[in-house]
Amino acid sequence: MVAADSGMNRFAQKLAGQSISLCRGRPEILQVNVGKLCNLTCVHCHVNAGPKRKEIMTRETVDRIVDWLAQTDIPTVDLTGGAPEMIPDFRYFIEQVKGLQPSRHVIDRCNLTILIEDGYEDLAGFLANKEVEIIASMPCYSPQNVDAQRGDGVFDGSIAALQLLNSLGYGMDSALPLHLVYNPVGAVLPPAQDELEADYKRELHEHFAIVFNRLYALTNLPIGRFAAYLRRSNKLEDYMKLLIEAFNPATIEGLMCRNTISVGWRGEVYDCDFNQQLGMQWTNGCPIFLWDVAPDSVEHRQIMTGEHCFGCTAGAGSSCGGAIA
Ligand code: SF4
Ligand code: SF4
Repeated sequence: MVAADSGMNRFAQKLAGQSISLCRGRPEILQVNVGKLCNLTCVHCHVNAGPKRKEIMTRETVDRIVDWLAQTDIPTVDLTGGAPEMIPDFRYFIEQVKGLQPSRHVIDRCNLTILIEDGYEDLAGFLANKEVEIIASMPCYSPQNVDAQRGDGVFDGSIAALQLLNSLGYGMDSALPLHLVYNPVGAVLPPAQDELEADYKRELHEHFAIVFNRLYALTNLPIGRFAAYLRRSNKLEDYMKLLIEAFNPATIEGLMCRNTISVGWRGEVYDCDFNQQLGMQWTNGCPIFLWDVAPDSVEHRQIMTGEHCFGCTAGAGSSCGGAIA
């Protein structure tokens, strides 16, 4: 048994108290956050993204990332933001990754509404043509909850975008997976993923003739805009208590930080997108960028944790692919 150290954060203490060592496995996903620019300003956003944010990845950084990726056998690139589609080199990035030998699988984390914005009319067709997997935010199947969390009119825009994606084969053709992401509207844990998925499938099909593959139920982590909301409404400590009491060691093996490398818009490296938003960059005395990393040095590296990590290990757990346990 490893003794709990009072100098550690509460998550590290919990792991130490249960003799759990949180280290990386083999990297399987390179998740690239290309910037904070977004057409929406959702209340739960952990990135604090929005239309006025200026932080976006340059082509030079895209090239350096693709050059690094080419030296590895990492099979999947997961593009996130912001709305990743809004950076000028979004399509260039995908074309470069798809052009590698061997080619890599690409995921676009899409807020849906961007697909129907002026100037983006051919974006969905481009994604289908490149066989890019889409993981799309859809916090509810009813308009009230979606508009409350994401802004007026977002529900209708999301439905129109999903119908457009279906018309291109997304959610039906095995080469065009379409997954939806649910996150709770308030300071609660998500319900059981399978049951919620069945509800989503029934409601979206019945009312809008929409089909999709999987629903991922994510827990809101207490960082960014969601933490600010919890603080304002005096709910932060209660929410932390909820997460801590729901700690589930069975989630550890499937945490996304074990197989995903997270890269920021300047090429900096983190254990996950949440650590990225908290500025927990890898360091060896100096801040580490992706091109400083020897690909075979990643496995077994210790993962940097904080109290927000309780959001990933509560209940059924939460990762980029939804519930874990
Ligand atoms: S949650 Fe997603 S869609 Fe909403 S503001 Fe943040 S990055 Fe944009
Ligand atoms: S926030 Fe989650 S994914 Fe990130 S380091 Fe903590 S446990 Fe891992």
